[in-house]
Amino acid sequence: MKVIKFGGSSVASAQQLKKVLAIVKDDPKRRFVVVSAPGKRHSEDKKVTDLLIAYYNAALANEETSELIQKIVERYGDIGKELGVDPSICAAFAEELKEVQTTLDKNSPYLLDRFLAMGENLNAQLIAAFFQQEGVSARYINPKELGIIVSDEPQNARILDESYDKIYQWHDCEDILVIPGFFGYTKNGDVCTFSRGGSDITGSIVAAGVKAEIYENFTDVDGIFAATPQYIHEPALIKELTYREMRELSYAGFTVFHDEALMPSFKAKIPVVIKNTNNPNCVGTMIKESYDTDSSPNHVVGVASDGGFCSITINKYLLNREVGFVRRILQILEDMNISFEHMPSGIDNVSIIFKECQLTPEAEAKLLERVQKEIEPDELEMEHNISVIALVGEGMKEHPGITAESSAALARKNVNLRMISQGADERSIIFAIRGEQERLAVRSLYYTFFD
Ligand code: ASP
Repeated sequence: MKVIKFGGSSVASAQQLKKVLAIVKDDPKRRFVVVSAPGKRHSEDKKVTDLLIAYYNAALANEETSELIQKIVERYGDIGKELGVDPSICAAFAEELKEVQTTLDKNSPYLLDRFLAMGENLNAQLIAAFFQQEGVSARYINPKELGIIVSDEPQNARILDESYDKIYQWHDCEDILVIPGFFGYTKNGDVCTFSRGGSDITGSIVAAGVKAEIYENFTDVDGIFAATPQYIHEPALIKELTYREMRELSYAGFTVFHDEALMPSFKAKIPVVIKNTNNPNCVGTMIKESYDTDSSPNHVVGVASDGGFCSITINKYLLNREVGFVRRILQILEDMNISFEHMPSGIDNVSIIFKECQLTPEAEAKLLERVQKEIEPDELEMEHNISVIALVGEGMKEHPGITAESSAALARKNVNLRMISQGADERSIIFAIRGEQERLAVRSLYYTFFD
């Protein structure tokens, strides 16, 4: 059987939900349907999840909330009305929404999670009602009943292993189960959400739990492209890639599929296919453990990029003789709760590259002060606005010349390389460059290896 998940834009309107119904009906193996909250219907629209955050902020500040509640109820009401669903269903949503405010416990760490989860929870109820009305034997199921038990980490939950056996008990369920994505329950019974975009994670957990033959993730693009359409006009669609390639690509900015969502499917060896609700006949992108033996992988499957990095470079004469030097730098980062991404080094210098968003101006000043005092470098330099480009492909392993070709391509465009790093598994090559050259670099690499 198959687990199928529909993202926010696929469930944002009545018109989209008719496509969803057709897709579910089209294959009797589609038994578990995971849904997001209604997303944007057009670029200026607001996601229901963002409206819920606004509602949470207003409720917490004791501000007037009736207009916001009205707006949220209207999103569901409009969809329900156009689909001809019994209006009492959406009328009940207004009561559920008000209830989170009246039972608000300002001291609960899970308060925001309760608001956030409403978006998916109400949508799953509406969609199950729509399916039933159209003659599909479907029912809404709450994640608690299904067995999704998560860690005590508000807005950043992780699945607990004991969930999988619980979920497996639904394996032979006769009805199609409509499951709200994005949240589970802690052992104490609190609603706790995954990180933003986390309905993908729910889909993967359910697929692993029921041991599905495939996890189909429906979104609003044909699949995963070899480079972002923001930089490349009509980039090639990747038809097949491995979990590891997907992981490397999503590390460097490919956001079609939530990066935490791969793990449950990967562990359970369940292939994931990314497909388009608006173009379901397109094959999409298949993500699986390895390539079939008869299809040799491309050397490079994709070029990803991500901005917003910074680096701190420490120069000190005879650095290589100082035992414990790197540990002391990393200790400072650990004390300041900064996680780093790369650490290229020379004989007398080391740079640490990390995400800029982890630093406030005050934290930056403190970091530099501590490094200066505790490490006593000859020179200390902080650089902002660095982008990271990842060239990814299983086929790069033991294939000489990819770094040469790529650095030659970048040199032709006058892109200076601040760092090059290749993991020991040779599945990716990472370049750090100046942020303003990101687009140019992606284009030059893409046209070197594709097209
Ligand atoms: N609705 C949630 C969000 O906007 C989760 C999701 O759509 O996957 O982040």
